[in-house]
Amino acid sequence: MPEALAHATNPMTDDTFRDDVRQWLQAHCPESMRQPITSEEMVWGGTELSFRSEDQRLWFERMRDKGWFAPDWPVAYGGGGLTPRQVRVLEEEMRRLGCRQPQYNLGIWMLAPVLLEIGTEEQKLEHMPPMAQGRIRWCQGFSEPNAGSDLASLKTSARLEGEEFVVNGSKLWTSYGDRSDWMYALVRTDTGVPKQQGISFLLIDMKSAGISVKPIELISGKSSFCAVFFDNVRVHRRHLVGPLNGGWAVAKKLLAHERAAMSKFTEGGAPSHDPLAVARPHLFDEAGHLREPALRDQLAGVMMDAHAFALTHRRVQAQAIARQDVSGPASIMKLVQTEQEVAKYELLMRALGTEGLQWTEDDPHPSTQDVTRSWLLSKTYTIAGGSSEVQLNIIARRVLGLPSGGTA
Ligand SMILES: Cc1cc2nc3c(=O)[nH]c(=O)nc-3n(C[C@H](O)[C@H](O)[C@H](O)COP(=O)(O)OP(=O)(O)OC[C@H]3O[C@@H](n4cnc5c(N)ncnc54)[C@H](O)[C@@H]3O)c2cc1C
Repeated sequence: MPEALAHATNPMTDDTFRDDVRQWLQAHCPESMRQPITSEEMVWGGTELSFRSEDQRLWFERMRDKGWFAPDWPVAYGGGGLTPRQVRVLEEEMRRLGCRQPQYNLGIWMLAPVLLEIGTEEQKLEHMPPMAQGRIRWCQGFSEPNAGSDLASLKTSARLEGEEFVVNGSKLWTSYGDRSDWMYALVRTDTGVPKQQGISFLLIDMKSAGISVKPIELISGKSSFCAVFFDNVRVHRRHLVGPLNGGWAVAKKLLAHERAAMSKFTEGGAPSHDPLAVARPHLFDEAGHLREPALRDQLAGVMMDAHAFALTHRRVQAQAIARQDVSGPASIMKLVQTEQEVAKYELLMRALGTEGLQWTEDDPHPSTQDVTRSWLLSKTYTIAGGSSEVQLNIIARRVLGLPSGGTA
């Protein structure tokens, strides 16, 4: 019997697995790795790997050696070989114990599922094991100066010369382009056809001759954004994913995985704040009396929305395990999750009052500073991976089947 079926029909197997996972996590996840994570503490895999503490290194290495950076991938590609149900058990147990994500990597979240589906065997074997070991960091080269929401207007060109593409042009808003080892990129390989039909999907080594990267400052005080320039960059043809000029369909698959990853943020995927923990001292005075009844009302609303979202997320996850199509819910959940994060941080900033607006590099209250930065950062998530307005267009047309009202 196939392993996935065996687990679907044998609840005892799940129970045994849960017990094993629970014991392993108890024994191997250091206490300090069970605290909420801040953005400074996120460990990004890659050649520039660095740790802030010994516990962080241990947790990274232990999870890596279990194959649990990518628990659902086949073992042959460096993954843990778990069934979808087992992955859910692992996630539940990690959440129950408050375990941090040991590694963050766009390659694992977005590129690998696409390679698994349509990559060549050579591409899977070359690129997936290094991601699963946290050795290679990936960035996304999609957006350009006049190609954001209207992504298909991208102009960065790739001309095929023998067995190599010659890439020229530039990418914008490339998160961590300056720290990444490889980029998955959309490039124009045909200008004489309708714009979606002349795009290809290429994997580009960021150390290639002719690539230069320029960081861009952000309002949150951190610069993850970069502009990346390509000047006659040579890329071997074997790094083409999918067919030549078939990159648009590949990009749509990848963006669906990006939105699914972003909709998991509150499930421990990214740093976030517990609204009650942050707001409580500002809502009540020393005698335990409520200072601001209006804020309490809003806090209850934010927490109820978060709870409803978590329940919906679990239901969609169960549908995905049952192999039902969840591309519609993924678009909806990215929209709802990111907008809920904005609403939460707006509330926290109201609760913090003027305290939330003071911020210097030597701030004596780093936790407040972190909320302030997260407040600013939360707004960007409603743009990254497709803005809220564009998500609404997608939901209207592809999920609800409404007629197109304009150019979107
Ligand atoms: C935090 C963050 C990280 C990012 N990381 C990356 C990355 O790593 N790699 C990468 O390639 N890109 C990245 N991006 C870029 C991101 O994909 C684009 O910013 C996004 O697609 C919007 O494009 P734009 O900025 O050009 O805005 P525009 O497309 O110019 O949009 C401007 C405004 O017009 C609205 N709008 C546009 N078209 C429509 C329409 N048809 N209907 C209604 N409203 C519309 C938008 O919602 C938006 O409010 C990142 C962005 C952010 C914020």
